[in-house]
Amino acid sequence: MRALQLIEDRRLEAVDLAPPPPPALGEVTVRIKAVALNHIDVWGWRGMAFAKRKLPLVIGAEASGEVETVGQGVSDLLPGQLVSIYGARTCGLCRACREGRDNLCEHVAGVHGFHLDGFAQELINLPARLLVPAPPGVDAIGAAVAPVTFGTVEHMLFDNAHLEPGETVLVHAGGSGIGTAAIQLAKRMGCTVITTVGSNDKIAKAQALGADHVINYREDRFEGVVRKLTRKKGVDVVFEHVGADTWAGSMLSLKRGGRLVTCGSTSGVSTSINLMQLFQQQLKLLGSFGCRMENMANAMQKMATGLVRPVIDTEVDFDSIDAALKRMEGRDVFGKIILRVA
Ligand SMILES: [Zn+2]
Repeated sequence: MRALQLIEDRRLEAVDLAPPPPPALGEVTVRIKAVALNHIDVWGWRGMAFAKRKLPLVIGAEASGEVETVGQGVSDLLPGQLVSIYGARTCGLCRACREGRDNLCEHVAGVHGFHLDGFAQELINLPARLLVPAPPGVDAIGAAVAPVTFGTVEHMLFDNAHLEPGETVLVHAGGSGIGTAAIQLAKRMGCTVITTVGSNDKIAKAQALGADHVINYREDRFEGVVRKLTRKKGVDVVFEHVGADTWAGSMLSLKRGGRLVTCGSTSGVSTSINLMQLFQQQLKLLGSFGCRMENMANAMQKMATGLVRPVIDTEVDFDSIDAALKRMEGRDVFGKIILRVA
């Protein structure tokens, strides 16, 4: 079967691997349909000194597939069923897992496509408990962007930032995969959405998703525009994932008691914090990574009813993966890049 392996930093190869054995107890063989690319794939491809991993490694952290074969002890999945795949190999036994706080698993074995072999392969055996069935009306692409893109944003906005209808939220990088999801999820619940983009051709696209105000951060200082738009009050919630380049401005964009929720740092991992600003303004800083499986189910339910939709930049095959990752690295995308596996 075909698979896409990272051989060394910045070198990916389409290879032939032996298909997996029949599924073990509690396992399912999944035929992968679509893999959605994320910044974690760019990090992995560029090389991360601190990542515990062995090369070669099959890439792909976010995917959908069809149930091919069901192992013993699996009663709730049927061959042919479309599923969304949880991206981390949790234990399923610890307190966090049993309570549905999957991304706080105490014995997580790693993230697929980053620490462990990922989903850019035709067939893979997985524990059935890590598969979330797609409801009718959700296709392979919708199910592919539920685990990391929509699931992460659901977890950030609702579980962590406790976003409420009527609040104002600043979404950084509105053209990124999670940016396009955050604009829609916040707007559909009745929030005012301010977003940033890096080029003027993305402005109309962000507005079409529901953004009320779009700031080109290369032309204007976003924190100044945010203060003007909110009559110097600031926003209730900042949705961060850019990191070093935007952190100080994000803190300045918050109202008193505001919440900053972050899941990434694409521009760099280190910054400084003005502690006086933190405590005097009573700001809340929330770190978020991954999601709970329930977030995936909730996101797909919203797709099924047409409330939100995946925003797809392009679909690529194994041969054009390098160009796709370079475009992501250069932020020359609007929405998700989908790697078609079958
Ligand atoms: Zn666990």
